[in-house]
Amino acid sequence: MCDRDMNYLHVSDRWLLAFGVDRDRVIGHSHYDLFPHQSKRWKKIYERVLQGETEGCAEDELPPCPDGTPVWFNWEIIPWHNAKGDVGGLIQFNQNVTQQVLAKQELERLIQDLERSNSELEQFAYVASHDMQEPLRAVAGCAEILKSRFGNQLGESADELISHIGDGASRMQGLINDLLQISQVSSQASPFETVDANEACRAALLNLEALIKKSAACIEFTNLPDVMGDRTQISQIFQNLISNALKYRKEEAPQVSIKAKKVNNCWEFAVADNGIGIAPEFHHKIFGISQRLHTRNDYPGTGIGLALCKKIIERHAGEIWLTSTLGKGTTFYFTLPQN
Ligand code: ADP
Repeated sequence: MCDRDMNYLHVSDRWLLAFGVDRDRVIGHSHYDLFPHQSKRWKKIYERVLQGETEGCAEDELPPCPDGTPVWFNWEIIPWHNAKGDVGGLIQFNQNVTQQVLAKQELERLIQDLERSNSELEQFAYVASHDMQEPLRAVAGCAEILKSRFGNQLGESADELISHIGDGASRMQGLINDLLQISQVSSQASPFETVDANEACRAALLNLEALIKKSAACIEFTNLPDVMGDRTQISQIFQNLISNALKYRKEEAPQVSIKAKKVNNCWEFAVADNGIGIAPEFHHKIFGISQRLHTRNDYPGTGIGLALCKKIIERHAGEIWLTSTLGKGTTFYFTLPQN
């Protein structure tokens, strides 16, 4: 705290510690004697405050310490008034935020590194899976030709091997397509728009028509809201969750209900089924790529559907989770931004 002539009236203990001086070498002495190399910028700031202004700056980079290390301060300077109401001098508050600024810069650098490595990985997954399709098509094609030209001529075990080649190739095609989809969630994304969730759901049901008929499933939804997002991707979420509800069923016909309620600034959707359920210890595992709880013989699949849902929902700044009772059914919840 200084008077109008910039002579010190008070300083905090912390200030003395920071500048390494004794109180009696400061009080009553001029600020400009103590800091003779004070820049013009500060002189101007002090002049303005002594005329009644308040000045301040957050994360102000000040001239570096003598050893060259950078320093940042949050500071504020306010005028104080005497009994007559005139400006009697100024009070300056300083906060050394160098550690916070350096930590923030490090965090920004890490985020940039992560974004770069993430996009490189996505690009790699895309290129690798795209390029793998070509030789795989050749394998599948040759297996098909072998079967049609030489089927029933090479003996039973040769026929079996040929059919294994065909099955393996088509499974791998399925995996590659799923991986391609995952790698394209961000790279091939459409901009967000208003999406009627009823329409997105109907589009999903259209794609699942044959499966719904075959399983005699009953699927209910009414009055779903408008959300903000990528139309195709939102439909994809419904499609993956509903197709799982139909796939992981019990003997009885599948019952699926889709509801939404508003929670804070987003819509929380619930897709509930009466299927086989999922034990609690697997609730997190199933969102990982290729994480399955069943063999291919029990239930076909590649273990990518839920990973894809999670990635799409995260692109929409939402979350996905579930509740389930083994043998009774599962409800998947997810949030999407409101329109
Ligand atoms: P996939 O269905 O191809 O295996 P998903 O990623 O869609 O891959 O699902 C991962 C696993 O989660 C499934 O293998 C299954 O064990 C379990 N699962 C998903 N949805 C349901 C559901 N509605 N009911 C029971 N289990 C489910």
